[in-house]
Amino acid sequence: MTPGTDCGSLYAATRDRSPRRSRRGVTRLRPCSAAGVSAILDSEVREELPISTRPFTYVIDYAGNHMGNAEWDAAIEAAPPGLLHVGHDIPVLSVSGPTLAWDVSKFDPASPEQVRERMAQVREFVERMRGLGAVKVIPYIVNCILWGDHETRKGFWHFYDHWNEYAGLGLGTQPPQDPVEWQQEQRRAQQHAGGYWYTPCPNNPHFQRFLDDLGRMIARCGYHGLFMDVNTCWCFCSACQADFRRFMADRYSPEELRRRFGVKEIAEVSLRDEAPAEYAAEVDLFRAESVQRNLRSVRNAGQEVRPDFLMVANIGPMGNFDGFLHRTGSGKSVLGWARACDYIMFEEWLFPGEAAPGVISDQIMQYKLAFDLGGKAVVLDYKGGTPATSELAWAESAAFGGGGAFVNPGTAFPEARAKYDRFWTAHPDLYEGYETHAEVGVPFLYDRILLRNVAHLRQAYRLTDALARTHLLFEFLPSLADEERLARLPVVILPAVDFLRPEEDLALRKYVERGGVVVALGSMKPAEEGTTAQDGLLALQAKAERDVSGALVGRKGAGRLVLLPDPDAYLPESPFALWQLTEDEMQPEGETERRAAAAAAAGVPVPGERLVGLLRGLLGGGACCQGPGAESVRLNAFLKAEALVLHLVNYAVPLLRPQDEAVPSPAGPLRVRLPLPPGLAIAQARAYSPDEEERRVEVAVADGAAEFEWSSLKVYGAVRFTLTRG
Ligand SMILES: [Zn+2]
Repeated sequence: MTPGTDCGSLYAATRDRSPRRSRRGVTRLRPCSAAGVSAILDSEVREELPISTRPFTYVIDYAGNHMGNAEWDAAIEAAPPGLLHVGHDIPVLSVSGPTLAWDVSKFDPASPEQVRERMAQVREFVERMRGLGAVKVIPYIVNCILWGDHETRKGFWHFYDHWNEYAGLGLGTQPPQDPVEWQQEQRRAQQHAGGYWYTPCPNNPHFQRFLDDLGRMIARCGYHGLFMDVNTCWCFCSACQADFRRFMADRYSPEELRRRFGVKEIAEVSLRDEAPAEYAAEVDLFRAESVQRNLRSVRNAGQEVRPDFLMVANIGPMGNFDGFLHRTGSGKSVLGWARACDYIMFEEWLFPGEAAPGVISDQIMQYKLAFDLGGKAVVLDYKGGTPATSELAWAESAAFGGGGAFVNPGTAFPEARAKYDRFWTAHPDLYEGYETHAEVGVPFLYDRILLRNVAHLRQAYRLTDALARTHLLFEFLPSLADEERLARLPVVILPAVDFLRPEEDLALRKYVERGGVVVALGSMKPAEEGTTAQDGLLALQAKAERDVSGALVGRKGAGRLVLLPDPDAYLPESPFALWQLTEDEMQPEGETERRAAAAAAAGVPVPGERLVGLLRGLLGGGACCQGPGAESVRLNAFLKAEALVLHLVNYAVPLLRPQDEAVPSPAGPLRVRLPLPPGLAIAQARAYSPDEEERRVEVAVADGAAEFEWSSLKVYGAVRFTLTRG
């Protein structure tokens, strides 16, 4: 029951090994070509605003001895999680079918009668976990791995050969195609434990049917959902090729196919590794859609048995730039998955905390991105867990997740878990039914990322650092064409968006006319040459003039377009940030802390000071937090009709520093300024923290902002402002 080192991915060999993109352009920092950009993701954007729910506790544990284990029961009972995620406690394993042992090296097929017995045991186990206080329980399956040997008919092939003997268990009849034909092309089986790991294709209809049937079986065992691991599609099989032709025919008319891709008829369309950027982006989008379809299909199957059946899907890490970037071409899309699963799991390396003075590890981007794009993040951290960093991790999930969760590796640190669970249970009105309240919109555009606009993604990382560090409240935007969503924000920054499509151009122009400010980092062109609208933002760009500060500014109505053609002058790359490290650089023992300490010794700069200064000028100040320790505090705010909640998290908790006592350094007294939504006034304000008594807060309102003081912030606090019409 000790925390695993390899939790999210149950089988070492199933860890996401999606091939790195071999195509050109991956590492360049230049914007991509604007010519002939397609309307990728047009239909991908959710119009309605994401709404928050209450945070919850989440425990993951893949030990193989949960059943009938008093020690395990006691660990659950000590701090029952809102969601309990187990590994092997299912009747039929997705990787090897019905077996008596979860360990494939001890493969021993289970008879149909033994599967029935096992189903009864699993039902009892889930009931028992519920009885001990776990609110929901889910097991592990994986959509990209089978184990066995197709020649000696071991593992999954043993099941395949005897499939019809399991009739009546809900697994249907034997599929007509041998599972060796379900493999992703051109993946090779890898030797493992007397057999091989195979990589089946999520687009294979027989494999999909098996996973759907397994989803129903899991629901019938009483589980509340399941966890899907790996989720990688990098396949050129005939099922994928046929699906890709359907995908392209749905998206483009024959004339568009001809004009954009030089394709004379749909039969010529095929998945290929080497392709021009626009075509490659379609391939990547199709990969993401394939995984979405797979996830949705399994969730739908489970929901036939229980309507609230939920899906958690592993997307891998986002804590390092390189890891996130190289996975986007293999089917991983926060935007795409947000609607196909209930929770997106980010499988990260580091706990939150302070790895060296001024070097902060956080998962703000993962939580906020998933929420603002319409989903919820659950974030699993492996390295650096202590009671104090666990408290910080729960605090971070509550402040930034909008209803997501930290994933506690194993059942360690029950006191931290119980403490936060009690706090959330006592104060649901801090969390339920809110939308993000922000001052600065940060577009996170998957179409640009798929078109290899690495600069856009890199600037999003830099911006997240700079804005979070300086306490400006921000929100990620999945689209630039959603006028209503833009209209809620005083400032929108365009991080190397490179080109504007006509609908973006017009929506941004309307936004400016209504008084909004667009700050463009880097230059912008029309998506297609010669299509600049007379009344779009790009036309305004052409008329921009230098103002007294030397900035290029275009004015229209009450708003402005501020052009910063040299982004590095305003938002340079920091000499060191944890997100810059690759997985290989981060994981060797002692390496992260060594690099963090070296960076701290050299002095950690405040990223993007010049940009932040410009933003503060445009915002008339903006949110801020000052006082001893404020540089380690991060803010996030949520709004609903009757209330505004500001969350404060203090990251000054030693991380990977065994020489330092693992306790937080309180920040304060903090002087905090929070801009109010226009037309609203504060009736009262109260402060809440798991470490302090609830209390009334004295608030001074000036220039449309509330100011208050927090005398000593240990790890987490929230202020709830009750609003009235002002
Ligand atoms: Zn395939």
